[in-house]
Parts: sequence; C-alpha cells; structure tokens
Amino acid sequence: MRRQRPVRYIRVPARPTRQRVQQRLRPRRGRSGGGGGCLRIGIALAMAAFALISFFGSQVYNPITGEDQYITISQDQEIALGLQSAPEMAHQFGGLDPSPELQEIVDIVGQELVRNSIASGSGYPFEFHLLADTRTVNAFALPGGQIFITRALFDRLETEGQLAGVLAHEIVHVIARHGAERIAELQLTEGLTGAVVIATYDPDNPNSQTTAQVALLIGQLVNMKFGREDELQSDGLGVQIMADAGYDPNAMVEVMRILDAASSGARPPEFFSTHPNPSNRIGLIQEAIVALFPNGVPADLIP
Ligand SMILES: [Zn+2]
Repeated sequence: MRRQRPVRYIRVPARPTRQRVQQRLRPRRGRSGGGGGCLRIGIALAMAAFALISFFGSQVYNPITGEDQYITISQDQEIALGLQSAPEMAHQFGGLDPSPELQEIVDIVGQELVRNSIASGSGYPFEFHLLADTRTVNAFALPGGQIFITRALFDRLETEGQLAGVLAHEIVHVIARHGAERIAELQLTEGLTGAVVIATYDPDNPNSQTTAQVALLIGQLVNMKFGREDELQSDGLGVQIMADAGYDPNAMVEVMRILDAASSGARPPEFFSTHPNPSNRIGLIQEAIVALFPNGVPADLIP
C-alpha cells in the first residue's frame, strides 16, 4: 500500500511590522560593529598566522624519498587515522570481499612486497584488503598503511606481478606520506587543526566536539585525491619495490594497459578521477624500469 504523504502545515510568517523591519536593519552593537570587529579580525589574523607557522614550521625529512615535506601529524597519528577511517572506506565499496582465499592472496603479495623492500623499515603496520565492489575499478591507500583494492580491479588482473604492481603503487603513497602531506595542506587552507584534533581525541567520549572533527577529517581522507606528482612518484618507486621483491616491473605497464582498456567500458572506472590517465604513465614507468635495469630486466623475475 502506498503510504500517504503527511500533510505539512507551512507556517506563514507574520507580516513584518515597521518596528521589526527597523530592528532587522539596525546594526547590532557589540556584535558586528565597533571594538568587536577589531577583536574578531585580530583573532582571525592570529589563527591564520598560527596555520601558516604550523605549516611552514613542520618541515620534515623523509629518508625513504629523500625529500623535505610539510607534515603536521606524527607517524602514530597517521596510523591511528588510517585505522579509524578503514571501516568507512570499506563500507563505501561494499565491505570486504567474502572470499577468504582471494583476501589471502592480496595479503600475501602485499606483505611480500613490504618485507623485501624499502617499505620494511618504514615502521608502518601494513594491511591489505580486498573490497567486495565488483563495479568500481580502483585501489586506494589511507595514511598509516591501510591498503585496498576492489574486486572489480582484482578480477581484471591476470598475473601475480600485476597485483604486485597495483599494491606497490599504493605502498609508496603510504611510505612517501602523501596522505599526511594532504592533511597538512587541508589544515593550511581550511584552518582544520587536524593535529590538535587527533592529539586530543578521546575515543571514550565519542560525543565530544573533537569526535565530530575527526569524523570530518575521516570523510576527507576517504575521498582524498593525490596530486599528479604523487601518482608519478608512486609509479616510479613502485617499480623499484616490485623489483626488490622479485616481481617483473613490466607488470606495472600491463596494469596501465588493463586500466586503459577498462576505461572504454560502459562505466568508466573511478580510477580516472583519482589517478592520472594510464596511457600517460606508461612512458614514465618504462623509463623507471630502464633506469633500474640498464641491461634489461632479469629473466627470473615473477611476471
Ligand atoms: Zn595512486
């Protein structure tokens, strides 16, 4: 049976009297006029100065990439944020895939890459998850080591090496701290005091103001896009991680071809909204492979 729509009574506002109109038009003293304004501007300036000082005072050296970065949260905070955001990320892509066998394959290949590469000394507790989503072709990394691949992308892969290529790319996003860099930028541009929020977050008091801010931050993390530079760095360093773990880095090129082919389908993969066009990345990946193996890729690597 069709449910009847409840009748809504719209309250018609009382006709504004002359007195009310004047009250509305008259500037309120103490709130927006006079000294209050100066104080507010002062506070705003102080906050802007604080945001700028905390951003530019936060330069840290990343020994893995050899770069100086602006990062405002600690490694422990990155890990905590990633763990807190992981269920929301999984939820957006149909939860975890129900097959324990496939889940195990993703985990084994991921841990193999971590154990045998620069990622092993990074201090991040990596976890690899297969998501149940069979329609969205994508893979993601949250700060701190939570890595995801959708079933739609997994099913398109043909070799172990190709899976290693996808996961190696995502591992670089974590160890190069691309997520933490984006958080620092968010803090600068939106005045989000993320580091303070996380530092004062009390999980036993979930109704606090900070919880709302952490929820906001988690929402932004889950939908986070990395810059083009970050993506190309993940491809380049990903090639090295693959080779260190015994995988043929040419499989990364094959992944790009698979993604390119997937883009001609009826439903363009969301991968393209979060990653640069794969055909543009192939040339740079091939250059990274030649730089790593000037005499050609060894024959004994896993395809
Ligand atoms: Zn990426």
